[in-house]
Amino acid sequence: VDVVPLASALGRVTAEATLSPVDLPLFRNSQMDGFAVHSADVPGSLPIVGVIAAAATAPQPLEPGTAVRIMTGAVVPEGADVVVPVEATVVDGSMVTITGAFAAGDFVREQGSDLRAGSELLPARLRLGSRHLAVLAAAGLATVRVQALYRVAVITTGAELLAPGQTPTLGQIFDSNAVALVAAIQAAGAIVSHEARVTDDHATLLTELHKAAARSDLIITSGGISMGDYEVVRETLQPLGGNITTIAMQPGGPQATAEIDGTPVICFPGNPVSTQLSFEIFVGPLLRSHAGLPAASRETRALRQPVESPAGKRQFLRGVVVEGLLEAVAGPGSHLVAGLAASTVLIDIPADVTHLNAGDRVETITL
Ligand code: AMP
Ligand code: MG
Repeated sequence: VDVVPLASALGRVTAEATLSPVDLPLFRNSQMDGFAVHSADVPGSLPIVGVIAAAATAPQPLEPGTAVRIMTGAVVPEGADVVVPVEATVVDGSMVTITGAFAAGDFVREQGSDLRAGSELLPARLRLGSRHLAVLAAAGLATVRVQALYRVAVITTGAELLAPGQTPTLGQIFDSNAVALVAAIQAAGAIVSHEARVTDDHATLLTELHKAAARSDLIITSGGISMGDYEVVRETLQPLGGNITTIAMQPGGPQATAEIDGTPVICFPGNPVSTQLSFEIFVGPLLRSHAGLPAASRETRALRQPVESPAGKRQFLRGVVVEGLLEAVAGPGSHLVAGLAASTVLIDIPADVTHLNAGDRVETITL
């Protein structure tokens, strides 16, 4: 639990219900600029005995048969039970004439009529928006108890990786997974607690994993878990009890989980589409739920063209919606990072489906 000032609390999720320490409104006050009077005295002409502004002073009780000028938000004096709006009065020197009929309580905001002291101001597990911060402030609270942010570390692996902005030699590629994961973590309402790009070297990776574990709730790695040589994540985590496996999903078949110093590690394959999609399917929903954010929206749409899908694998194709119909973009290759950028939905094809015709309906996840 973090205790944060209201100014830093936007988008945070309340850790517990907050009870109001005060009545809202704090005191009985005027809803209008006008005259506070006794309801029994109107209609009628009354002497004006003073003026009450919205300020930090308690007004004198109002004698029957008199009126006092009052401003919006000012304390309604004892005895007065109506505020007559200025528009409904005629003032002549020190007298005010009220012609209309007013009932007790008109234009008076009773203390506690919005919320009683001790009742629930905000519930637990609420993502704070401006209106929630406003009611905390209105109740005089300067801080709010919120859930700690989920802390996620990102470690990308690969001897070929180069930071964007540099000049590649033949064989080098730019690391796009680091940026993708960092942004996706933030978009899911969590914070990035550690970031590292490591070459295919066990000692370096292990050092970064320990550093990350010390300050994270979850570590995500990319690359180095498939069947080739130099699979640094697999080779490092397998002896430490890591579970390296292949799941029936495309892209994103190779996957691994492990634990370092008690912190869970989830390992995605290095291909950019595999990494981004694995995050979207396995991690994003959990982080969004923790952060009180809505789940990614799913919609069923009809296909514009037929699609093929491998047997026994749940496939996620990239797609766009053209005139209400779903169109696959790029191919199934998990290196097609531009194709993913050009798409607006993921097309979710169940494992047992191998062919779909134009017009068939499939589920999509909006990106
Ligand atoms: P790996 O899973 O390490 O075998 O990598 C699979 C493919 O993804 C290779 O073509 C890698 O060059 C590529 N790749 C690995 N990591 C990244 C990354 N961080 N950014 C972009 N591409 C990557
Ligand atoms: Mg690699």
